[in-house]
Amino acid sequence: MGFFGGVEAGGTKFVCIVADAAGVVQAETRFATTTPDETLGRTIAFFEEQASAYPMQAIGVASFGPLDLDPASPTYGYITNTPKPGWAGVDFAGRLRAAFGLPLGFDTDVNAAALGEYLWGAGRGADPVAYFTIGTGIGGGFIVHGKPLHGLVHPESGHIGIPRGAGDVFGGVCPYHGDCFEGLASGTALRQRWGQPAETLPDDHPAWQLEAEYIARALVNVILLISPQRIVLGGGVMQRALLFPLVRRKTAQLLNGYVGSPALGEEIENYIVPPLLGGYAGALGAVALGMQAAGGEGQ
Ligand code: ZN
Repeated sequence: MGFFGGVEAGGTKFVCIVADAAGVVQAETRFATTTPDETLGRTIAFFEEQASAYPMQAIGVASFGPLDLDPASPTYGYITNTPKPGWAGVDFAGRLRAAFGLPLGFDTDVNAAALGEYLWGAGRGADPVAYFTIGTGIGGGFIVHGKPLHGLVHPESGHIGIPRGAGDVFGGVCPYHGDCFEGLASGTALRQRWGQPAETLPDDHPAWQLEAEYIARALVNVILLISPQRIVLGGGVMQRALLFPLVRRKTAQLLNGYVGSPALGEEIENYIVPPLLGGYAGALGAVALGMQAAGGEGQ
């Protein structure tokens, strides 16, 4: 059986794993994100150490962004204009390719997590799959016909516009758009709007009704635009158990019966769902990107 490397490159930590083609993790390491030289050095050293026990066919990278994903671009595989010090303009994909000479999959962290959930987690059997992470920020990725959706660049669905709730005058926290989805509903927005971290807001706080409404309004847009067969919602804010039933109910209310599918009626519990891959979502998604780069299509 072949093995594949996966790198979840986050702004605060890296997770590197080796997994087989069934997504079973064989080896892993985690370390803090520091300078590009030190962090990519540790990444390369990990795969060199594992290579004799687990000969790898390809490596995948699920990275924080923004990223250049245009194969025709001279800066393909680069991290572009991130505010993270030292990381803007780093040739992430090129450095790993030069170290190993293996096929390399490279995509955003949310597209990778969407792919991992599609192959091995909560998105299995559905296509398209929409995946949102709702945490400090908000990101969204889509699997369409078995592959992450790319276009002009990659979807930035955390920044779509959503209508405001009645009486909400909070300005929003997005530095680009103010009151976009991330600006109104990210964990950062929750903290600034209510003056305390989201995890300290009690269940009966009005914050959660408004939060569920904003998430539902975003999901309505996504449902109407790309008609996903399943929506997976991850990230720290979604750890609040009461959100899932609230978001499902409000999404159905807002659609008001317009989309005629049982997925939005009696089966909505199986339509808007939490992820299943937990702490491995990004890294296993990266493994899946590696498999697609090797031409294995995840089989
Ligand atoms: Zn925005």
